[in-house]
Amino acid sequence: MAELPRSLPEFEARFPDEAACARWLLEKRWPGGFRCPACGHGEAWELARERLTLQCVACERQVSATAGTALHGSHLPLRTWFLAAWLVATHKNGMSARQLWFQLGLGSYKSAWPLLRKLRRAMVDPDREPLAGLVEVDETSLPFRAGDEPAGPGRSHDGKLLVAGAVEIRGEGPGRVRLAVIDDYSAVALGGLVAGNVAAGSTVVGDGWSGYARLKDVKHDPRVVGDAPAHTVLPWIHRVFANAKRWALGVYHGLREEHLQAYLDEFVFRFNRRRTPAAAFGRLLGLSLTLEPATYRMLVGRS
Ligand SMILES: [Zn+2]
Repeated sequence: MAELPRSLPEFEARFPDEAACARWLLEKRWPGGFRCPACGHGEAWELARERLTLQCVACERQVSATAGTALHGSHLPLRTWFLAAWLVATHKNGMSARQLWFQLGLGSYKSAWPLLRKLRRAMVDPDREPLAGLVEVDETSLPFRAGDEPAGPGRSHDGKLLVAGAVEIRGEGPGRVRLAVIDDYSAVALGGLVAGNVAAGSTVVGDGWSGYARLKDVKHDPRVVGDAPAHTVLPWIHRVFANAKRWALGVYHGLREEHLQAYLDEFVFRFNRRRTPAAAFGRLLGLSLTLEPATYRMLVGRS
């Protein structure tokens, strides 16, 4: 498969039209060539349809390039999807639906929003490997906004959401990150983050909280003793929290409560691929392929 684009001109050359995008989808789905999902036959005709469709030579089953993907059923051109994925994956801070709407020149804001939500859903790799080695774990709170008012200090109607985070320490700096909305600072909530995101045999560096000591599969290295502030002993997870808060305010003018985990997933996707934006694009398109088509109802529900 050809190199993924690293610039907008490269993107234009790689995906000049609908057919180029459809071919990329087909190659991704059948890296070794077409295989009929009904009968297993290896040859197909290409039907001249608005969206590239293959027809099995043996059983005549028709398969659209987008069948079974998150892109299925969308009325937007594939190229709009690809460009949206490229913009969202490579833009340093990511985009709001409003920015995406302007950048893509879409007719209405209403078509930009579900597009962005589908791409965000694709940001969590269901097969991702758990964090491993030395892992800093801590919790914080993020302000969220209600209504159309931006979040800010001293607004009485704003609330706080509790978030737990974990970051690998690789040499002198941070490796991969996980962030999760939690209901409270209980042993169950924090233990759940560690159990679900940190590999057995790892060492968790946390505050002196005794709940970690009860975790079976990881070692606990309590770093906060007495009055030492947490950011001096857990520098990397605190830097991640600070980045996430700045990002939330800068890009979204504060997060909304109902979609917080989706926002956190986007931040994590971006952070973990901050040095490989071209690969992030391929990952985003690839992951959106493997997911079941999302209905509008799923998108607006709590994720
Ligand atoms: Zn067939």
